[in-house]
Amino acid sequence: MFSSELNPEQRDAAIKALASEEFDIIVIGGGVTGAGAVLDAASRGLKVALVEARDLASGTSSRSSKLIHGGLRYLEQYDFKLVREALHERELMVSTLSPHLVKPVGFLYPLHEKLKDRTYVGAGLALYDVLRGFQRALPWHKHLSAKKIAEIAPSLRQDIVTGAIKYYDAQVDDARHTMTIIRTARRQGATIATRVEVNQLLRDGKKVVGVEAIDTVSGKKIKVRAKSVVMCAGIWSDEMHANFGLTPGYGVTMSKGVHIVLPGHAVKSNTGIILKTEVSVLFLIPWGNQWIVGTTDTPYDGDRAQPHATSADVQYILDQANKVLDPQLKREDIIGVYAGLRPLVANTKGSATTKLSREHTTDRSAPGFVSIAGGKYTTYRVMGKDAIDLAVTDLRRLVSDSITEKLPLVGADGYFALVQQSAQIAREFNIDEKSVVHLLNRYGSLISEVLELIEDDKKLAKQLCEGLPYLKAEIVYAATHEGAMSVDDVISRRTRLAFEAPQAGLELVDEIASLIAPVLGWGAAEKKASIAEYRKQVSAEVDALAALLINS
Ligand SMILES: Cc1cc2nc3c(=O)[nH]c(=O)nc-3n(C[C@H](O)[C@H](O)[C@H](O)COP(=O)(O)OP(=O)(O)OC[C@H]3O[C@@H](n4cnc5c(N)ncnc54)[C@H](O)[C@@H]3O)c2cc1C
Repeated sequence: MFSSELNPEQRDAAIKALASEEFDIIVIGGGVTGAGAVLDAASRGLKVALVEARDLASGTSSRSSKLIHGGLRYLEQYDFKLVREALHERELMVSTLSPHLVKPVGFLYPLHEKLKDRTYVGAGLALYDVLRGFQRALPWHKHLSAKKIAEIAPSLRQDIVTGAIKYYDAQVDDARHTMTIIRTARRQGATIATRVEVNQLLRDGKKVVGVEAIDTVSGKKIKVRAKSVVMCAGIWSDEMHANFGLTPGYGVTMSKGVHIVLPGHAVKSNTGIILKTEVSVLFLIPWGNQWIVGTTDTPYDGDRAQPHATSADVQYILDQANKVLDPQLKREDIIGVYAGLRPLVANTKGSATTKLSREHTTDRSAPGFVSIAGGKYTTYRVMGKDAIDLAVTDLRRLVSDSITEKLPLVGADGYFALVQQSAQIAREFNIDEKSVVHLLNRYGSLISEVLELIEDDKKLAKQLCEGLPYLKAEIVYAATHEGAMSVDDVISRRTRLAFEAPQAGLELVDEIASLIAPVLGWGAAEKKASIAEYRKQVSAEVDALAALLINS
């Protein structure tokens, strides 16, 4: 058993190992797909490394709707197999793999035409519940009268909503979950390094035998030898294939999806709401004391690393939600906004190398080189398994089957019992019970590591800012155990202050930098540079929100 900590010492050791050892598999990309692949490989007993060019989950995997769902829309396309697979994954996560992170969430599906809607939507939601099989971590759907809706969701317009059906899915802090999968892989012995960007493949004749990468912190080149390379680069897949001179059997196009974040009082409902739009669906998702509302779906060909929301994106979301809400959502209510890019795969006709498996595609375009793209967050574990199943053919030895279905993520063990003990933990560590519950839902049984920091320095038990539940200890922990290496890593992904706090959390940057500086060995210059980098990065989003208010 290895330590699951990700921190500067661990990264230094990982960089040395990458340069000096040979791996069975190297995984490119630390989004949820790469996370699924590295955990799958490590838990089969393979020697595996993962390299990520930026921070863990810094691509699409921190910018989703954060739902773990079967996908109601696939029912309309009669894709029952895909829905059943995703619902199976949802059950696994809620009950066994990551119950500390993946939580049930209820949604109202408002009905407009009494009989027709209730029959059609009711049949669909009954099928949705049936497809999950005998496992039942989430409640069954329920028909509600207009009177009941007025009680539980007074914000829904009573003049047009004649009834509703309530059903359940699950939600997750996507960036935290991806990082936790990667920590679990680390515990299984995987070598993990962020800020290592792959720019070429190593070849022996036609065979791929590793990668050439650059450590973007030191600027040094590293040659990493591996029997198989597994690329999980999402929206970066096309440019990477082109750069490597490989022709895969599929291409990846990008579609932008924007979400806005609103305070709790903006929507009066004690449950989530799903609305059918002309092109897709719009979710109003409870998020702590706030709401996440989205999403859009528009073609995109701009900067992959930093997609931004436009005024038109935000207006579309407001218009769709306001069709059924009273009081209406207002631009000045908006606290935050974020944009993400969907990796949509399309197969090249007649390709011999590609296997289109439901929504995701695995491809072996050269001996020793496998890639996977598409799919959805919910099915990350299946994607990881499919990629490694294909990659092990290059190892030329017997490798055991995937066991990730039976492998809870770090923090999951003992979680349910710890929830029962939250009052005792609160007394023992002199913090309020609400904070203990908050910590358990972010760290599970790893809460003991956060509490150790508080024992050593009581000041860290204080909240970072008013109105949001984060404790100062969590900011330090992000650097000591979760691989955060910058202000942006902490504010955008280890916490979600970038969209939960006003002004993208800009008021908190100095304190956050001061908390992580000793762990990261920063002097004044490094602190200043990390703060400036974050300010520059969020300026477009902050400006877009300000412009919206001026135009309203
Ligand atoms: C708006 C939106 C809403 C969504 N909502 C949901 C939802 O509610 N539920 C759901 O199940 N799915 C949802 N999805 C889909 C889901 O988020 C994605 O399918 C998933 O996150 C893709 O993960 P990935 O690992 O393949 O890609 P990414 O997360 O983008 O990871 C790819 C990684 O590769 C790294 N990389 C790129 N080039 C290199 C290189 N040269 N060297 C090293 N590393 C490199 C990148 O930095 C990046 O971190 C949504 C997507 C969007 C955009």
